[in-house]
Amino acid sequence: MRIANGVYVLTIPRSPQEAGSYLNLTLIVDEENGTTLVDAGLPDQTEAIGAALVEAGIGVRDLRRIIFTHQDLDHVGSGAALVRRSGARVLAHSADAPYIEGRLSSLKPTPEMLEQRPQMREVLERLEPVGVDEQVENGSRLDLAGGTQVIFTPGHTPGHISLYLEGSKVLVAGDALTADRGYLNGPNPLATLDMRTAMQSVKRLAYLDVDTIVCYHGGVVSEGANEQLRRVIQEASGNRNE
Ligand SMILES: [Zn+2]
Repeated sequence: MRIANGVYVLTIPRSPQEAGSYLNLTLIVDEENGTTLVDAGLPDQTEAIGAALVEAGIGVRDLRRIIFTHQDLDHVGSGAALVRRSGARVLAHSADAPYIEGRLSSLKPTPEMLEQRPQMREVLERLEPVGVDEQVENGSRLDLAGGTQVIFTPGHTPGHISLYLEGSKVLVAGDALTADRGYLNGPNPLATLDMRTAMQSVKRLAYLDVDTIVCYHGGVVSEGANEQLRRVIQEASGNRNE
């Protein structure tokens, strides 16, 4: 789905076993600076991602950059395979880079998460490490889509980032926010390592003027996006006093 000029959301099924569950990757087509994919699905989803790219008239080989919002296996999963086929440069936050590169073992799924979803164990075994070419920090500005800001939004993982596309006012939230049929919610407590930090991160997004929010889990929020973001930030403030 095209959500702004040169910005596409690629919705791919999570797995045949989990019907109705989707991942929402973002594709940024920038004729000057090359094509960028934000997050890379689960292991062995290269074909599904390649098929979704066709909608934007892009092939896997055209990818110049892959940005990981964080280390989780459903975000970096097919990264190594995509890099092999495209030679894309990989960007991620310095706090998650060692996990993505396999120098430290991934913080998730935690033993509790594995107990709830034992099928994750087999997926985890297929996870390949990916070399990070460029580490980004809060406030890093990428020459992409007319200016893209990196916003450090830790909590879900220690090095989670969100991206703000200044030209189109699109916020690529990764897992810092979730959505349900157009309704914006905070991060998923069942998958978030540090909920307090994650809620503080949501408040970091307060100064943004957003038209569209892309949540990796839940998809696009476009109706009253600013108001919905303020509501979730307010809820985050309220929860802090609990
Ligand atoms: Zn995720």
